[in-house]
Amino acid sequence: MAKLYFSYAAMNAGKSTILLQAAHNYRERGMDVLLLTSELYGGTEDGHISSRIGISSEATLYSDKVDLFALIQEVMAKGRLDAIFVDEAQFLTKAQVWQLARVTDYLHVPVLAYGLRTDFRGELFEGSAALLAIADNLREIRTICECGSKATMVVRLGPDGKALTEGDQVSIEKTTYLSLCRRHWEERMGRFPAG
Ligand SMILES: [Zn+2]
Repeated sequence: MAKLYFSYAAMNAGKSTILLQAAHNYRERGMDVLLLTSELYGGTEDGHISSRIGISSEATLYSDKVDLFALIQEVMAKGRLDAIFVDEAQFLTKAQVWQLARVTDYLHVPVLAYGLRTDFRGELFEGSAALLAIADNLREIRTICECGSKATMVVRLGPDGKALTEGDQVSIEKTTYLSLCRRHWEERMGRFPAG
């Protein structure tokens, strides 16, 4: 049975690297894969998934308006498809996560989604919330805070290096993100005194 997988992480955990490696493994075995990524990052990474260690692969951009079930059905009408990889899965809508679930249930192709769990305010993204709710398989990609503990939270830093506490969930401008453990996230956000 095909499954819907969700690998989630904080920022800078190397999730795109892991996605590209997994897609490479499929291709190496002669299988055909489809890579999808959010057009919210299209400005800089136009139609590509890139990792910080320098590898990249072409990808189809999706917007929040696209019916992913229909898109994948179209791809399958033209040829074989063995797996679907979705990067920036936090930007999926709840409806799109259900479309991907139907791809596994009715089209019998595994879907491997990769994304951030929470935004810089500590709130779940819509796509991540839906994936955490209905994915068959959840996997955490670990990264560490500056203190060495597991980082589960993300802060968005302003130009002055201070953590921003307000703003849109998706930043249009180029901003810096830092992954922290929950304790250091709260302190950096000024929600609880350090010490
Ligand atoms: Zn820490």
